[in-house]
Amino acid sequence: MIILRINVINYKNKILELKKQKNAVILAHYYQDPDIQDIADYMGDSLALAKYAQKTNADIILFCGVHFMCETAKILNPEKIVVLPDLNAGCSLADSAPPSEFKKWIDKYPDHTVISYINCSAEIKSMSDIICTSSNAEQIINSLPLDEKIIFAPDKYLGGYLQKKLNRKLKLWDGACQVHVIFSEKELIKLSVRYPEAKLLAHPECDDNILKHADHIGSTTSIINFAKNNSSKQFIIATEPGVIHQMQKQNPTKEFIPLPNNEGCACNECPHMRLNTLEKMYQALDTLNPEIILPEELRLKALKPLQRMMDLS
Ligand code: SF4
Repeated sequence: MIILRINVINYKNKILELKKQKNAVILAHYYQDPDIQDIADYMGDSLALAKYAQKTNADIILFCGVHFMCETAKILNPEKIVVLPDLNAGCSLADSAPPSEFKKWIDKYPDHTVISYINCSAEIKSMSDIICTSSNAEQIINSLPLDEKIIFAPDKYLGGYLQKKLNRKLKLWDGACQVHVIFSEKELIKLSVRYPEAKLLAHPECDDNILKHADHIGSTTSIINFAKNNSSKQFIIATEPGVIHQMQKQNPTKEFIPLPNNEGCACNECPHMRLNTLEKMYQALDTLNPEIILPEELRLKALKPLQRMMDLS
């Protein structure tokens, strides 16, 4: 254990030194391991990271997240080197929309506006009219006239939640996040009995059987802010448990309970996000590999709907 911590400290020091030498910035999503979160220059959800990526003066972005997030950073920053610690860090939700099938599907509805959640590949972005995140999806949909026909992709749970909340009909792609769909309602009910005062904070990628019990539904940033500003002392968290690290740091006297999945364990970590490690961060920064490269034509097509999102939010 002691040797392991020494290794962690060594890697952290080496990464910080290299970062300075190379004028790099470390961006990390809230679902990363706590050790990665602790050396990030900037933490955030997809929207915040995309915005930060757009304004950084660094030459290199070491992006600790998953592939679609790095693509987004590259789309917004073609002149910068964007590296991802592990190229296999994908996303089940992004993978649930294969570009050729998606193209065939949207071609059936030429009179619809295509709104895609940012958790999708650059190819899906390039076929979309507007991108949204869980922070700004309501605002983006509300910016369109009430009679506008809308396709929402790729997350059917987020789409279903928005449809209900905004009372708007959306045509939904059948995609989902493997982490958020397996939270257990049965375990939630058991926890609610054990912690009757606890508030349930849930991400809208969860199934409605969890969302219907939630005291607050929102993006990771919104969940973190709610926990900070609410006077409750206990919170049940229905999103990837990496987010609890920041919540605990900001609220040392409050208790955060991760909601178990269908197997009953509180181990709902995103297997893709967790592929990134300190060792891989160091190697990626040292070798500038794996670097995210996008064909310019694809980048320009994917930039348009992203820019439209930035302008609207
Ligand atoms: S938590 Fe779900 S949506 Fe987020 S990166 Fe992992 S698989 Fe994708």
